[in-house]
Amino acid sequence: MDFLTTNTQYQLDNSFDGTNPELNATGKEVIVIGGGDTGTDCVGTSIRQGCKNVVQLEIMPQPPMERADNNPWPEWPKVYKMDYGQQEAEATQGADPRSYLVMTKEILKDEDGNVTGLQIVDITWGKNDQGQFVPQETDGTLRTLDAQLILLAMGFLGPEEKIIDQFKLDTDTRSNVKADHEIYTTNVDGVFAAGDMRRGQSLVVWAINEGRGAARECDRFLMGSTQLP
Ligand SMILES: Cc1cc2nc3c(=O)[nH]c(=O)nc-3n(C[C@H](O)[C@H](O)[C@H](O)COP(=O)(O)OP(=O)(O)OC[C@H]3O[C@@H](n4cnc5c(N)ncnc54)[C@H](O)[C@@H]3O)c2cc1C
Repeated sequence: MDFLTTNTQYQLDNSFDGTNPELNATGKEVIVIGGGDTGTDCVGTSIRQGCKNVVQLEIMPQPPMERADNNPWPEWPKVYKMDYGQQEAEATQGADPRSYLVMTKEILKDEDGNVTGLQIVDITWGKNDQGQFVPQETDGTLRTLDAQLILLAMGFLGPEEKIIDQFKLDTDTRSNVKADHEIYTTNVDGVFAAGDMRRGQSLVVWAINEGRGAARECDRFLMGSTQLP
């Protein structure tokens, strides 16, 4: 997020000094850990900043080219796709930058503490005694990738806890604030939750929808009724 925010601020505000060398991909070998949308943004931004090359590591298997039997329409299709970041990598480097079923082992650095590379290993997914899926390393596949910039894009774990603790808000099993869609009231009278904080990682369209809905419910709470949509 630091990398992406710095880059976007630099694009938006010419007076912003976005040339912090620690956060610049220019001329560097870049590794992006995480194959999701944030990882895609890191790949695309690295290429636009003129990186030497970029690879993207994903711990999960490559999705199928066609819908699997357990993923029928109208569910969201979990199939292989090239997003803009991968397309730009293919155009500049000749191939999709993603490697699947790889796990990171150790970040390597020089004596000054600068990143020099990353040790990775191939994995398969197996089940443990409790029936949970766990990664199992494949013998003989430990290897090192050179890198001067490693970007962590491994996903949203949940909203920050501080404000949730301070307000003593109830959370759901995914650590999001408990509040129903279209209602938005939490367990604390007068405290409402909407957007990613309520539904988990999502999309801007949902943030807009829920922000408007929460405003309506705040109006109802304060005025006793509301005419807001
Ligand atoms: C890298 C990345 C790329 C994404 N790309 C897309 C995309 O292409 N398309 C898309 O639709 N969605 C995308 N998303 C998801 C989208 O950004 C979110 O779903 C959306 O921003 C959620 O809106 P929100 O208002 O719920 O939360 P946020 O946008 O996270 O806003 C929460 C705000 O609350 C502030 N805040 C936090 N704590 C406090 C506090 N104690 N007091 C006051 N303020 C506080 C934060 O600073 C922040 O400004 C992306 C997300 C990421 C991380």
